[in-house]
Amino acid sequence: MKATTLEGTEIDLSPDMLAGLKLQLQGPLLTPEDADYEASRRLWNAMIDRRPAMVVRCLGVADVMACVRFAREHELLLCIKGGGHNIAGLAVADGALMLDLSLMRGVWVDRERRVAHAQAGCVLGDVDRETQVHGLATVLGFISTTGIAGLTLGGGFGYLSRRWGYTTDNVLGMDVVTPDGSLVHASADKNADLFWGLCGGGGNFGVVTGFDYQLYPVGPEVVGGLVAWPASEAPAVLELYQRLAEQAPPELTLVALMRPAPPVPWLPKEYHGQPIVALLACYSGDPEEGELVVAPIKAFGQPIGDVMVRRPYAQMQKLLDATQPKGRRYYWKSEYLPGIEPALCDKAIEHAGRIRSPHSVVILFQLGGALNRHEDDHSAVGNRDARYVFNVGGAWESAADDAENIAWAREAWDDLKAFSTGGTYINFLTEDEGQERTEAALGPALQRLGEIKRRWDPDNRLRVNRNIAPG
Ligand SMILES: Cc1cc2nc3c(=O)[nH]c(=O)nc-3n(C[C@H](O)[C@H](O)[C@H](O)COP(=O)(O)OP(=O)(O)OC[C@H]3O[C@@H](n4cnc5c(N)ncnc54)[C@H](O)[C@@H]3O)c2cc1C
Repeated sequence: MKATTLEGTEIDLSPDMLAGLKLQLQGPLLTPEDADYEASRRLWNAMIDRRPAMVVRCLGVADVMACVRFAREHELLLCIKGGGHNIAGLAVADGALMLDLSLMRGVWVDRERRVAHAQAGCVLGDVDRETQVHGLATVLGFISTTGIAGLTLGGGFGYLSRRWGYTTDNVLGMDVVTPDGSLVHASADKNADLFWGLCGGGGNFGVVTGFDYQLYPVGPEVVGGLVAWPASEAPAVLELYQRLAEQAPPELTLVALMRPAPPVPWLPKEYHGQPIVALLACYSGDPEEGELVVAPIKAFGQPIGDVMVRRPYAQMQKLLDATQPKGRRYYWKSEYLPGIEPALCDKAIEHAGRIRSPHSVVILFQLGGALNRHEDDHSAVGNRDARYVFNVGGAWESAADDAENIAWAREAWDDLKAFSTGGTYINFLTEDEGQERTEAALGPALQRLGEIKRRWDPDNRLRVNRNIAPG
């Protein structure tokens, strides 16, 4: 079998070499001839179509260690798939040995200590499901099928971030297989530099096999959901959004979005496919207070649909899943914002009006609150001054429509980036965004990250990521 080396050359791996690796594994080793290979290499974003030389579906830490050592011995390119949701397709590389962690989805909750240990192949919904058994939760993102590993290692924000910070701010420790194939623990007390780097610097320093998350009482009910209006109301709705967001308590997270109305039962048929504006809210504190807090949204103007109600937190965490299915073609542009100004809203409305596909969206997420609690050097996650993040989210079905949808996203970004803090979120960067965008995401942390990389991965064996050169 042919595989790609770290230097980008091709080598032959003999049947004996592969048999030797197989003997050390408990999980299956898949090559292109195996039926499951195709499903393993496919990612959330159908724009990415790469073919690893082989895939190991790891069943535990020992499998990960065996693969990392095998890759080291033969100088192979190694890539790691957590949830496979990275829009740039950083989970897979042509010719690489791919570690597919999706069979490692165990979650153990210590109710007394309020800590969850989650294996690195979990998706967000796995963690919510087990922690909610105990009325607990940690900070995760908005779509339950996203992988915890990529999300956490790049920062991570969602409905609970304004109360408790980035996901990484709530990680107590990580188990890590280092590029030399050994297992270490990283926390604020142990291998603290490695821990600091993994909290925002991505999988540059090791393969994380498990995360310990701090948990908090959340739910079982929260107040949340969507209220929608016709796009003609967008200027007034965005003004309301800005006003409510500026005075929101940390328990409340508000998101504004503009898109063609999806064909869902809670929106009248005559609006399906028509442009709408919607506010998405989640109040994760006492539901009675939550109902009062969201009342001005529900009472505003004449909504065409309203599903902002008391609902289980676990359901809230899945509310948007159907809007982001695996297998569509996706292209995003994103920036952090210091605030919402009228001129930004005008531009956002203008570009939302030019959306080329029924699935695309212009979205404004609210940050602030506890995200700004720490100093910028608390971990490698920077940009703590950001108050909002916008995402121009192109989504469509057919490769024939790539050019016009990408052009739409880029044109919108060209106008909207004037309002940026200058920073961007590393987990939203697309395939065509280069080193200058990694710098915009990691900023001043880059120098220290380079030093940590030199200590833990001096040969840059883990390079299929937003790569940090050994400093
Ligand atoms: C639909 C959707 C919704 C999203 N919503 C949010 C959101 O609400 N909040 C938010 O913060 N982000 C969000 N994101 C962005 C998300 O955080 C990133 O896409 C993230 O990379 C996904 O993690 P993953 O494990 O699925 O990624 P993968 O594609 O599997 O991996 C991404 C990168 O992480 C590395 N990696 C994966 N596992 C490991 C590991 N165990 N050890 C070391 N390195 C590893 C990979 O090598 C790769 O470089 C969303 C993305 C999508 C597609």
